[in-house]
Amino acid sequence: MEKKQFKTESKRILDMMVNSIYTHRDIFLRELISNSSDAIDKIYYKTLTDETLTFDKENYYITIASDKENRILKISDTGIGMSEDELSDNLGVIAKSGSLAFKKENEIKDGYDIIGQFGVGFYSAFMVADNITVISKVLGSDEAHKWESNGADGYTIEPCTKDSVGTEITLKIKENTEDENFDEYLEEHGIKSIIKKYSDFIRYPIKMEVSESRLKEGSETEHEDFMVEKTVNSMVPIWRKNKSELTDEDYNNFYAEKHYGFDKPTKHIHISVDGAISYNAILYIPEKTPYDFYTKEYEKGLELYSSGVLIMNKCADLLPDYFSFVKGIVDSEDLSLNISREVLQHDRQLKLIAKNIKTKIKGELDNLLKNEREKYDEFYKSFGRQLKYGIYSDFGSNKEVLQDLLLFYSSKEKKMVTLDEYVSRMPEDQKYIYYAAGESNERIEKLPQIEMVSDKGFEILYFTDDVDEFAIRMIMAYKEKEFKSVSSGELGIEAEEKEDATKTDDKESKELFENMKKLLSDKVKDVRASKRLKNYPVCLSNDGDLTIEMEKVLNAMPNSENIKADKVLEININHDMFKALKESFENDKDKFGLYTNILYNQALLIEGLPINDPVEFTNNVCKIMI
Ligand code: ADP
Ligand code: MG
Repeated sequence: MEKKQFKTESKRILDMMVNSIYTHRDIFLRELISNSSDAIDKIYYKTLTDETLTFDKENYYITIASDKENRILKISDTGIGMSEDELSDNLGVIAKSGSLAFKKENEIKDGYDIIGQFGVGFYSAFMVADNITVISKVLGSDEAHKWESNGADGYTIEPCTKDSVGTEITLKIKENTEDENFDEYLEEHGIKSIIKKYSDFIRYPIKMEVSESRLKEGSETEHEDFMVEKTVNSMVPIWRKNKSELTDEDYNNFYAEKHYGFDKPTKHIHISVDGAISYNAILYIPEKTPYDFYTKEYEKGLELYSSGVLIMNKCADLLPDYFSFVKGIVDSEDLSLNISREVLQHDRQLKLIAKNIKTKIKGELDNLLKNEREKYDEFYKSFGRQLKYGIYSDFGSNKEVLQDLLLFYSSKEKKMVTLDEYVSRMPEDQKYIYYAAGESNERIEKLPQIEMVSDKGFEILYFTDDVDEFAIRMIMAYKEKEFKSVSSGELGIEAEEKEDATKTDDKESKELFENMKKLLSDKVKDVRASKRLKNYPVCLSNDGDLTIEMEKVLNAMPNSENIKADKVLEININHDMFKALKESFENDKDKFGLYTNILYNQALLIEGLPINDPVEFTNNVCKIMI
């Protein structure tokens, strides 16, 4: 029989699985059981929505059986089964969850929990088995097929017989070595405790032969052991349980079982609502940003159940975009099973649930911010950008929900602060909330434009995300205080009007600036004496609504038209350089042109903007040295 090869990336994962000395290899059983449970979910759903099929609860379960002597562990289910193609497609290629994680591999750091990183799935069984066979019969077919593999060298598929629909997985458990013992996967006690730990909440019975002891017939004292089939999991789904019965570990295990993420969640929210709408939900706020989170591939959504039956893996309508990082499950008795996805979108109950969920998430984030600031800071590092996008999109209609959740780096506090914290310590003579935009805090700190505001002792918020300024534009004002860029024309600082140094209306300076402007004609809208510079010679500021930072962001977008902010070149007339400039203006027009060019390019460099002709610029710098 022809041996088929695993796809390349699957092969690499397999190698890792086979050779792993991973301490959490127990999870292979969780993975197989969860696949079985998914398969039963699928058949359950089919029977409920297809009138030709009937569902009898009794017929749906998972069985675990071990044969210690032959080192065999069997996991069988009465789920939907797999066809020949499905066996090949699903088990021949690394599982989707696995492949997602695989892409992350390149970022894996030293000492990082490699396997814990992966969605592992079916392949994890190779951590404990050196041969796996999967016999499966899919619903609606008379044929069954057998898939078999020894690991990395590929797999075979052939027809076989199987009485009932479902899947049976046989693991040949590895022999013990000097360092490793695999016996617990063959022993009743070992298997039972792994199931209790990871799969207790599976909603279908996990049946297993267990040994019990009873009084010997006719005897009052003598005991005998006998085998009996028992359901070893509690079967109550975790979201139906009482919060008081559950520990953080239970919630974290469920998060891992569901592959919501490879991290430990920052927070879980357990909701049980009974009233106009009834639903149970467990929601998680992850700790780390999924690697694809800020890409188009990322799909938001919650798992949706109707009275314990899975209707949808990712119901997007349950989450607003700005909370798209939330993972979890919702189960409601108020939803009809037969409902199509299109209709579901307009379902009134679903809308109510979504609204309720939004409020709960917001409340939880408020709490986190108020009571566990460090954790909130971590959360914000991962998902703050999404909140800001949330404000920017929908024309700012969500700003009330989100603005108090924002954090920005503060020039004064040297850490992330809320808008409320900023406003509450504003001195009385401060009119605006000041911000400076740039690539990084370090760069902003060195911007000439911030001098005036910081000398005045005012706090400045640093905007380092592309979206920051756009989001703030949507908020417009927070607690009646407007936002003001330190680069904007008018800073609203009293001193600036009084400052004598800015009296530039003497004819000569005016003429000088006019001439500079002519030389820079299409590049700047104006050249002025600066009110905000103290030690630096030049800077750019902007007239009008569009700031230079915004210009950068907009032009970096695909298909952007060349957008230009109205730039003003500001000259520090108290700087020694100004004397030289003046002197050149009076006596040497060539030099004046040279200086103008250099000053303008310096301003661009400070701003982090590209200079048009770097060669000309460097030549010009050389010219002034000669
Ligand atoms: P995931 O469960 O994340 O999709 P797995 O590697 O665990 O990844 O499984 C791969 C796929 O194989 C599943 O999505 C499913 O389609 C199929 N599969 C695995 N086990 C079973 C099973 N017991 N019954 C039916 N299909 C299964
Ligand atoms: Mg799986």
